Amino acid sequence: MPTKIYDVIVIGGGHAGTEAALASARVGASTLMLTINMDHIAQMSCNPCIGGVAKGHVVREIDALGGAMGRVADASAIQFRMLNRSKGPAVWSPRAQCDKFVYQHAVKYFCERQSNLDVMQSAVTRFLVENGAIIGVETELHQTIYAKAFVVCTGTFLNGKLHYGLLNLPGGRAGDAWSVLSESLREDLHLRLGRLKTGTPPRLLAKSIDFSNMPKQSSERLSEQFSFFDSSMISPKAERRHLPCYDVHSTLETAEIVRKNIDKAPMYQGKIEGIGARYCPSFEDKVIRFPHHETHLLHLEPEGACTDEYYINGISTSLPPEVQEEMVHSIPGLEQAVFTRYAYAIEYDFVFPDQIYRTLQTKAHANLFLAGQINGTSGYEEAAGQGLLAGLNAARFSSHKVPVEIPRNLSYIGVMVDDLVTKEIIEPYRLFTSRAEHRLWLRQDNTDLRLCDFAHEHGLLSDADYAVFTARRARLESFEKMLREVPKLWNLLKSFAGRIPETFPLELNDAWPMDVAFDSPEGQRLLSHAIISAHYDAYLKREEAHIRKLQQMENWKIPVDFDYANLKGLKNESRQKLMKVAPTTLAQASRIDGVTPPELSLIQIHLDRQKRAGHSES
Ligand code: FAD
Repeated sequence: MPTKIYDVIVIGGGHAGTEAALASARVGASTLMLTINMDHIAQMSCNPCIGGVAKGHVVREIDALGGAMGRVADASAIQFRMLNRSKGPAVWSPRAQCDKFVYQHAVKYFCERQSNLDVMQSAVTRFLVENGAIIGVETELHQTIYAKAFVVCTGTFLNGKLHYGLLNLPGGRAGDAWSVLSESLREDLHLRLGRLKTGTPPRLLAKSIDFSNMPKQSSERLSEQFSFFDSSMISPKAERRHLPCYDVHSTLETAEIVRKNIDKAPMYQGKIEGIGARYCPSFEDKVIRFPHHETHLLHLEPEGACTDEYYINGISTSLPPEVQEEMVHSIPGLEQAVFTRYAYAIEYDFVFPDQIYRTLQTKAHANLFLAGQINGTSGYEEAAGQGLLAGLNAARFSSHKVPVEIPRNLSYIGVMVDDLVTKEIIEPYRLFTSRAEHRLWLRQDNTDLRLCDFAHEHGLLSDADYAVFTARRARLESFEKMLREVPKLWNLLKSFAGRIPETFPLELNDAWPMDVAFDSPEGQRLLSHAIISAHYDAYLKREEAHIRKLQQMENWKIPVDFDYANLKGLKNESRQKLMKVAPTTLAQASRIDGVTPPELSLIQIHLDRQKRAGHSES
């Protein structure tokens, strides 16, 4: 049993917990990660894939911040695609189909080998509070472990309830026990909790599927990867890469089976109180809400290279097992499909994120940080991004450093955290590119340019990785500069209209670095960066100017104890919201729904007066 006082304890070994623990340990804090089941570390509870629209951007941001997700996804990928390539580069999104077992084993091994990090299987049952301060945790084995700071990343496990038709069972997800920690969060830490819901589709055995008439989706670019760095030390790796996915369509009969059995759907019988995401409807929702759609596109995705299980993307349901079988068997190619796991919905507790700051520190307890699904988000990538920030800040807190924010204009992680703490959460939150104001700047290909300086400055990125980055940045800059100086070449780049040509443009021969192959990830990146700069030059400059203007508002810091109650001229509704959110900058205050420009001016004038009074006193 550990007897020392840790700097940081991370509760939960999911996508948020592992990045939190790794980040905390990386910046030098002695860290303990406690999780319910060591063999389920970083388990993909739903689809076996990392990345996708906006999520792929986050994976690359995590990578630029020294995190594990991108490197491990590369090692476990069995298919890689760049989504949205036919659209503008702001929305190109990398996505990898991963071997889910290799992924979780690789993250587990990564954590086990990380210095400053201990990992232990044990469920935390209670927080220990002394004189109002959290000093430790108690586990299911009645052990007491102390630390200076805590990160809670308990995912869908808090008071989790699984629904299979009208039958419901307690659980954190299928095959895992639920977590009892809600009571302590409520009673001992006085946090406000709500209830959300999500769901997952069934899994089928490949040998029982007739793939012969199904359109196949193969891997797009064999050389693509998430990580900007060397992933070769990641172990284990996927044995076989580039397994295809397949498309199938549900039928009129599938919809009819759903309609006939809707009285067995817990959602439609008032058995689920948690709120689900509108953007990710269950199959029964699709049938009832969109009756004019006769069929729905579904994707069959392999769960790994060493398993025969296939995931059916798009048919998440909480109808009873026997109805699920009827539904699936009504789909061409799946008539004989054998189920390995039935679909289900899960309800769980979350903490309303208006109780945290943009550092992910809770307002009520300075040494408590929250990350992942517990903050009302959905998705592995969203969880991992928050975990990294929370882990960094818990470590900083434990060594008496001020927690930091990752700005909204620098990253999707910043956009997400800012949204979470500023806006009201009415359904599980996931990232979309449309949530970002500066999409052309927040691209997936330039995350290292946006974040590596920050990461290195705060100890998240090793000197060796930073050296790799600075060399690459120098090369990108000098290549672009050279091309800008030759109008003929710059115009050639513009003529590609933001797209990379299939073959090497011979006109670039003299400018092209000798040691970079055109079709290597590095070569593709070099050219695509220059092409995007040329084609979107004017837009990028406009976006930059806008970001600079916004930054001025970000620089207006608001103290957390700002006295909104006595500030004359605020509408009551705005006053309540400002007091609840406690924005840390004027820019954040401007994003609170209903707060008007004149009210912002009032706050600004007051801050200005306070600043001047402070100066004259000193
Ligand atoms: P999790 O990955 O859930 O990890 C939580 C960790 O905390 C686990 O390791 C657990 O053992 C540990 N833990 C919990 N309580 C304790 C405790 N008291 N003590 C110690 N350890 C504890 N996301 C999507 O984007 N799209 C989807 O369609 C989708 N569908 C889903 C369907 C289902 C059925 C489930 C369960 C999840 C789904 N998700 C989906 C969500 C996705 O799995 C999560 O967003 C993501 O895993 C959240 O990461 P996390 O780290 O916050 O939590």
